[in-house]
Amino acid sequence: MRKYKLIAPAKINLYLEIIGSRADGFHELAMILQSINLADEIEIHAASTENIRIYCQHPQVPNDKTNLVYRAAELMTKEFPDAFNNFGGVDITLIKNIPVAAGLAGGSTNAAAILVGIDLLWNLGLTESELQQLGGKLGSDVPFCIAGGTAIATGRGEKLSPLPTVDNLHIVLGKYRSLEVSTPWAYKSYREKFGHTYIADQDSLAARSHAFHSEAMVKAIYNHNIGEIAHQLHNDLEKVVLPAYPQVLRLRELFAAQPQVLNTMMSGSGPSVFAIVESASQAEIVKQKIRSAIPDPDLELFTTHTIEHGIEISS
Ligand code: ATP
Repeated sequence: MRKYKLIAPAKINLYLEIIGSRADGFHELAMILQSINLADEIEIHAASTENIRIYCQHPQVPNDKTNLVYRAAELMTKEFPDAFNNFGGVDITLIKNIPVAAGLAGGSTNAAAILVGIDLLWNLGLTESELQQLGGKLGSDVPFCIAGGTAIATGRGEKLSPLPTVDNLHIVLGKYRSLEVSTPWAYKSYREKFGHTYIADQDSLAARSHAFHSEAMVKAIYNHNIGEIAHQLHNDLEKVVLPAYPQVLRLRELFAAQPQVLNTMMSGSGPSVFAIVESASQAEIVKQKIRSAIPDPDLELFTTHTIEHGIEISS
């Protein structure tokens, strides 16, 4: 029986700007996405049945057709019916290490891993760009999660331009286990409050997207200037999520008050908050200080760092 084990890393947003509305109902975004070494583990086996079966012990993750992993496998069966007939279904075991509904693209990176895994299992020989196109059908973050690293993401997040790797960026990440922020809620609330600021006409939207490729954060990444990268962190969604979730605001304020922290920001639609520090030892110090200040066991804290890849085949 053939099987593959894949590592599916989370992402953080170093930058997230909402620039306007799109005809498809999504938002036009300008983002910088960054893979981190906090990752889920996924095993995919060729099954002898025609079924897609998911085994996952995490209480917040469904084992049914609503799991993004299921949707990714189902997409492959529809796109490649001959291979599906030939090789049959798949059994998928998912070990979640990435906090769920955290703004860390947990489900998206799992879906990306399934696309990569089934490509291997069925000997499809798809290119990275073909995998990314399939990923775009599943969710805006899935195309990035395939190759990962550091990238500009525009459109609804699916138009990617790779950037030089930001390595040596040490991170402390906090997420309240029981706190979930719905991504659709965050964007809807933003539209209600700030929709009047959106760029409306298509030419101006395209110009903004284009200009973003040479802005301060992008330059800081090209120059590998960690201090400037930290300084340029930005996330528009903080404007709606922080007022609605005082616990998240407090965590962010606490991170900001630590002398080792260069800067702190919510990732994606939250509620995870990350802080940038200069070294792994400083990350440990900050983690301990936050733990002492908030002894609540519901708060999960991680030390992690940026990585230059997305989905990895471990065996
Ligand atoms: P993003 O950053 O892409 O918005 P997220 O990190 O905020 O995503 P996820 O962890 O992907 O959010 O979870 C969002 C919802 O999707 C949860 O309510 C969860 O139950 C559901 N879900 C479906 N499949 C998965 C999966 N494979 N892993 C995690 N959550 C999943």
